Amino acid sequence: MPARQPSSAWAEDVRVSHGKGARVLVVGASAAGFSAAAALRRRGHHGPITLLGAERHPPYDRPPLSKQYQTHGWDAERLGLATRERLAGLDLELRLGVRAAALDLSERVVEDDDGGRHRYDQLVIATGLVPRRLAALAGVPTLELRTLEDADRLKAALRPGSRLAVVGAGFVGLEGAATARRLGADVTVVEPVAHPLADRIGSRAATRLCRLHEANGVDLRCGSSVAGGRVDGDGTVLELSDGTELLADAVLVAVGASPSTGWLRDSGLDIIDGVRCDEYSRVAESVWAAGDVARWRHIGYGEWLRVEHRTNATEQGQQVAAGIHGELTPYVPVPFFWTDHYDVRVQLAGRYRDGLTETDVELPDRPGASVTLFHAGDELRAALAWNAPKELHRYRRELLARFAMERSVA
Ligand SMILES: Cc1cc2nc3c(=O)[nH]c(=O)nc-3n(C[C@H](O)[C@H](O)[C@H](O)COP(=O)(O)OP(=O)(O)OC[C@H]3O[C@@H](n4cnc5c(N)ncnc54)[C@H](O)[C@@H]3O)c2cc1C
Repeated sequence: MPARQPSSAWAEDVRVSHGKGARVLVVGASAAGFSAAAALRRRGHHGPITLLGAERHPPYDRPPLSKQYQTHGWDAERLGLATRERLAGLDLELRLGVRAAALDLSERVVEDDDGGRHRYDQLVIATGLVPRRLAALAGVPTLELRTLEDADRLKAALRPGSRLAVVGAGFVGLEGAATARRLGADVTVVEPVAHPLADRIGSRAATRLCRLHEANGVDLRCGSSVAGGRVDGDGTVLELSDGTELLADAVLVAVGASPSTGWLRDSGLDIIDGVRCDEYSRVAESVWAAGDVARWRHIGYGEWLRVEHRTNATEQGQQVAAGIHGELTPYVPVPFFWTDHYDVRVQLAGRYRDGLTETDVELPDRPGASVTLFHAGDELRAALAWNAPKELHRYRRELLARFAMERSVA
């Protein structure tokens, strides 16, 4: 296999400054940042590793916030990405409740918003996303769902008979709706797009998901947006674009999230919808990015990607750790996610695109379970499973094999 040529001029400098004794600073103490830090230790990194995170909690997992944390009595400790013992064993310097405010690339220093300065040899940017707000609801009390505190506020609002309005029928909004129904709340979902999620999972699966919510009592109002809102007594009135009004005890705004890159504004880094990286997840000399915030060149697809899913945070964190130790391997994952609604788990491996040929795989004796394959010509591009995790993983492996060549070490 011929050696791959690193694509940028500073590749050689990176080789000089990485090593197992390097001082590593990870900004963002969540899935991607923790994955990078833990992988560095697993690989024998003996230099200092600092995990600097704006949240005051040790690294925890977000997917259960809209699911088990609400409905299955999970406590905050159960969300932890590592037990206290494991965390202690990793020997990380945890700087929690500390927000990075600026990056000075030439000095190799991150400044926090208290004026603290954090020096690094290698920097990992893993600051994830911040939820988008709705200008139409400025000044109106709303909930969002990204952090543990958000999840606690939602939990407090969900009671049998309470009225929840969800704005946005994306994965987080619909998972929130399913959870609220399970807890006995009345739920209305307002979504401007006529066929939500069709661009993500195909129109047949998206329609099936919407029907599932309706069958479970969700009032799904597609093609309608929120034009304004006001407080009315103990509740909130949402003014909808079709002229109707909706009275709710609580409003969950779930209209997507944007990369948390404000602190990099003056850094000189290329920030357009995330932190731009090369195919090795490198941002600049001795600077790497991983997880929801990273937009990198996927040489398998020949496109720039930014993936907002949990598995990617772990995988890219691990890949960055390898890069810091000098193993420059192009990052060519097959995107994968799951989403849970009532008793249904939907999983997608690969990339759904309009225009792919859809084929259903027979799953005899498995009522309600299904797998759909999406092909471009003869080539498998994506597989979607509905309560069929084992079958999905078979196709996921097939999809992964497609990038075996690209994955070779430089
Ligand atoms: C409610 C919910 C449910 C989800 N469910 C699923 C699911 O079912 N399946 C799935 O595949 N994915 C799911 N996801 C997505 C998944 O959780 C994310 O892809 C994953 O958390 C990304 O990890 P990350 O570390 O890149 O970013 P994040 O988890 O966003 O973490 C970034 C961290 O950086 C911190 N930070 C930000 N700015 C700064 C700063 N300036 N200084 C210091 N720290 C900073 C943040 O406070 C945060 O702790 C869900 C997400 C949410 C919110």
